[in-house]
Amino acid sequence: MTPTLSADHRELIADLSGIVSDYPYADPESTLAVLAGDAGEALGRDATSPEGSRERTGYTILLHATCWYVSSRIFSKSLFASYVQALEGLRAQSDRTACACPAGAHPAALDSEYEVEAGVSMLTEAGRAAFAEDYGLDEDELAAFDCGAFLADLADEALGRLREAHQELFGGIDVSPLDGKFLRDDDHIDIVAMQEALSRSWEDNTGPVALWSARRWLTGQLRDEERIGVFLCLWMGIDQSYGGLPPSYARDLAAALDTIDLDVTCEHPQHPWSTADSTVRSRHRAVVHLYAPDDHPDTPVPAELSARELWECPVQYAQLAREALKDLEGWRTMRGGDDEDWED
Ligand SMILES: [Zn+2]
Ligand SMILES: [Zn+2]
Repeated sequence: MTPTLSADHRELIADLSGIVSDYPYADPESTLAVLAGDAGEALGRDATSPEGSRERTGYTILLHATCWYVSSRIFSKSLFASYVQALEGLRAQSDRTACACPAGAHPAALDSEYEVEAGVSMLTEAGRAAFAEDYGLDEDELAAFDCGAFLADLADEALGRLREAHQELFGGIDVSPLDGKFLRDDDHIDIVAMQEALSRSWEDNTGPVALWSARRWLTGQLRDEERIGVFLCLWMGIDQSYGGLPPSYARDLAAALDTIDLDVTCEHPQHPWSTADSTVRSRHRAVVHLYAPDDHPDTPVPAELSARELWECPVQYAQLAREALKDLEGWRTMRGGDDEDWED
């Protein structure tokens, strides 16, 4: 009889393949939490038993295959913690010195979808037989998946990646190197330089520019005429972070937005930003014109709306803050995690 995987395991392969190829249809946060939980539970079983050894191999490969998703797509401290705990346990069971494989025998450069299939298959005897048949693996090639050195490498790589990402997602981000770029010698803020940084989308600048703006805003070290410029850089950085920024950024962004009084009214029929807001390019032109009109004569904002008083109107601040707070809320929904992960 041809060996086959159980229906559960076939479904697990399908769910995890969707996640690692970045097109999840099962909820990634709960799917991966269950996977890490199952791996943790397997650690409680006898590691020297055939079942324990199969599971050590299978779960090490699966956690390795999915750790990039945990590192960059889900902002959840508890998911990180269960991954690290399970991987540390698996790592402790993998003896790096136990390798007796011929040179080059370790499976290498595995793509994550193949890893998912391999990992789930390794969990059971039937899965292994089916996997070996599908990929034409002989006994030695199959045995290399169980090698302690191979598994230790996978676990170390995954742990390194998770630890680095944890700092980036939840730790403190240092944006002080931007002082040198955004502050002029007289300590004036160079709004045009900030706008240029935002325009270089290939440098992934939106998060750092928004965070620098938020911190500057919160310290209050800015001149009256710099306020709207810094605030618009903050707002644009948030608005243009389409994939959402992690808590390490969002905390200070929210704190800066919380300083804006939302309960305000005015008599103005219209504010300048409403005429500049159609595209990223048009916003950029509006802001650089505001701060360097001679160098940047072109602006989408009509002359009758360009009075400084209109730019500074508290109602415009409130409208912008409300939109940005909604973006931040959207990041939480999109990226998951617990509420306290997003707070101080
Ligand atoms: Zn080996
Ligand atoms: Zn107004």
